[in-house]
Amino acid sequence: MREVQSTDSPSLLCRLYVLTGNRQHSRNARVDMASGKETTDEEEFLDDGCIFCLIANEEDKEAEVIQRSNELVCFKDICPAAPHHYLVVPRKHIMSCLLLNKEQIGLVEKMAEMGKDVLRARGVTDMNDISLGFHQPPYTSVDHLHLHVLAPKSQISTLFAHKFIPDSPRFITERTLRRCLQEITPPHNCLFDCLSFF
Ligand code: 5GP
Ligand code: ZN
Repeated sequence: MREVQSTDSPSLLCRLYVLTGNRQHSRNARVDMASGKETTDEEEFLDDGCIFCLIANEEDKEAEVIQRSNELVCFKDICPAAPHHYLVVPRKHIMSCLLLNKEQIGLVEKMAEMGKDVLRARGVTDMNDISLGFHQPPYTSVDHLHLHVLAPKSQISTLFAHKFIPDSPRFITERTLRRCLQEITPPHNCLFDCLSFF
């Protein structure tokens, strides 16, 4: 594989991410790629400089992890914008919702299910007064896919409310994200690919 040049178009960059399964390789894995030997080691899916990779793999002692599965981890947001504010992340490093493809609708559904499970387990009963969604780049501060799970929606702090306006350029609800992913058709592979064709 040739090196990506800074002059390459965003859609090419995006296709490269898709070709590699939306994963960012750790240093070891890059060496393996350079030698042409691809490994199946789990480490390949981690970015060792990413705080959410550390949390997902129990390497951050500060994080308050609430629920985990083989694929996902849910933990408390360090700076809550509502009485309940959790993040659900895949254990694999995926950079953003824009790099998701149609085959990953199931992943988004599972993230939302875990978020709702955690809310119910913590006594939230009004599931109409919750907010589930993703910040879109460039409005992200951590580049590891994470679903914001907030409740009650009606009690989101006024200080942070502008960050969680449903289906604004900044915040896409998980439901809208799933619909957009469903609408991706070839030659587009992921949402970012679609945007760069506009
Ligand atoms: P973004 O703006 O990227 O959608 O949101 C990132 C979220 O992650 C923010 O709400 C922020 O408070 C939270 N966050 C950032 N760093 C950490 C951390 O080290 N631990 C935890 N638990 N949350 C974090
Ligand atoms: Zn990560």
